[in-house]
Amino acid sequence: MAGLRKPVVEVRRSQRRRRTVSAYRDGERVVVLIPDQFSRAEESEWVDRMLARLAAREERLGRSDEELLLRSRRLIDRYLSEHGRAAIPASVRWVTNQNGRWGSCTPADRTIRISHRIQEMPDWVIDYVVLHELAHLVVPSHNARFWALVGRYPKTERARGYLEGVAAAAGIVLAD
Ligand SMILES: [Zn+2]
Repeated sequence: MAGLRKPVVEVRRSQRRRRTVSAYRDGERVVVLIPDQFSRAEESEWVDRMLARLAAREERLGRSDEELLLRSRRLIDRYLSEHGRAAIPASVRWVTNQNGRWGSCTPADRTIRISHRIQEMPDWVIDYVVLHELAHLVVPSHNARFWALVGRYPKTERARGYLEGVAAAAGIVLAD
């Protein structure tokens, strides 16, 4: 019941901010960005407001680590079923410390990490990123066999185009 745990809040004041407040989750912490000129009372009021807003967004999206694991099982059943246990990860988690990649996989310990940057993207894009990392459990490198596995997902090309577009718009280069 992650929603019941009270998160550790880190407030960051910024002189560049005038009125805008934003918040994001970073692992167990929630970072709240507020204008430097806010009083303590305003800070406390906005922290409460942003925590409520963040919880509502996470609830609406339903994109927890638990959901990510269920999504993985569904993708394995549909696209990698003949690989059996070889395609099953030890863990699959959302992470915020991964700036150069949408997802990553460590075949040695069978762990998969998915970047929070894609958390609000459409379902079919998340499916592609997760399937890509699951396929690395079967084939670690980006060879023809790997792309044949990933290509079983009908929206692979569309999802790759979507992610390239997002990366180009943000001026960032991201590896697979
Ligand atoms: Zn890859």
